[in-house]
Amino acid sequence: MSNKILLSLPHMSGKEQEFIADAFKSNWIVPLGPCVDAFEKALKEYLGDGKEVVALSAGTAAIHLGLIQLGVGPGDEVICQDFTFSASANPVVYQGATPVFVDSEKDTWNMSPELLEEAIKDRIRVTGKKPKAIIPVDLYGMPAKMNEIVEIARRYDIPVLEDSAEALGSEINGKKCGTFGDFGVFSFNGNKMITTSGGGALVCNSPEVAQRVKYYATQAREAVVYYLHKNVGYNYRLSNICAAIGCGQMTVLEQRLARRREIHAIYADRLNKIPGISVADNPSKEYNSNFWLTCILIDKHITGYSWEDVYEILKTNDIETRPLWKPMHQQPVFANNPFYGNGFSDYLFESGLCLPSGSSMSDDDVNRVIDIIENLNKK
Ligand SMILES: *Cc1c(COP(=O)(O)O)cnc(C)c1O
Repeated sequence: MSNKILLSLPHMSGKEQEFIADAFKSNWIVPLGPCVDAFEKALKEYLGDGKEVVALSAGTAAIHLGLIQLGVGPGDEVICQDFTFSASANPVVYQGATPVFVDSEKDTWNMSPELLEEAIKDRIRVTGKKPKAIIPVDLYGMPAKMNEIVEIARRYDIPVLEDSAEALGSEINGKKCGTFGDFGVFSFNGNKMITTSGGGALVCNSPEVAQRVKYYATQAREAVVYYLHKNVGYNYRLSNICAAIGCGQMTVLEQRLARRREIHAIYADRLNKIPGISVADNPSKEYNSNFWLTCILIDKHITGYSWEDVYEILKTNDIETRPLWKPMHQQPVFANNPFYGNGFSDYLFESGLCLPSGSSMSDDDVNRVIDIIENLNKK
């Protein structure tokens, strides 16, 4: 009986337990504490570019606090990527604002800069005011065309919040994802690039902004001895124990990145040889995806089978795969939101599949997945 292969499992280094033991010894079993500071420092040093990092309870909380800092509120519109996980857009609704969805382009599968500009112009025409923010996503770890998107955003003077929840370690020309916009977001949920069991971070442009984010993340308590509140706050800080796991994970980030990229290379090398299957890849040398998940597109007119067939056959072999994200404009909850489409996210959802990509997979595991797909063609 061969082992179960799952999509993307937590992959501990062994050092996490030492960091947690230290936290227990000092009795810092609370949100805040030395591990939170150390985890933020490790992330800040890793990202460079003079950024500040605030560790939070989730990536979703990071997006929410970023939008609050950008002043997003009732009556505002925020441009969101259509092809993404709903957590990219939900915080817009928490703020009483309306997500406006923009479709993807084919190089990165992320927000199309052309459609973005079209959407900005059209929203100004229709509503008489500019969208309040733009949320591009580095989906599956592939950097969005951030330079082009930021250039357009600057021209219209609209802030950018980069959802890099899946893209820790990804780069364009050596510049790290999460550092392109006014804010950047990471997730440390169990299946992401690294994990704190659950957690996230908001990347900020200055110590002042980071300080303000920390204030909102800890119930907006004023700096006096009694409990004084001038704003509505949130309980969004990362716990010291979760941050201890994060400190352990940061010690092996480079190894984890290297392994995900190796796994992608094995898939690409073999699967691209199958007519009708293509493995998503960096569109040029400037792009360096972390390949959080390796994704394939299946042209069923050539292969004779669809992603559903691959999903089913792998499932019966104890291998977990996942359809690509169902676009936001197809979600009942966002059915009435404005959408600027070109058909590409619909095509992706109909044609693609995410393959198991966790850094703990062995070469044999990866080859077992590929063997089964190859055998489909021999039928
Ligand atoms: C995981 C994820 C989030 C949310 O992060 P959580 O830590 O799970 O709250 C947001 N956006 C994208 C694209 C994600 O994949």
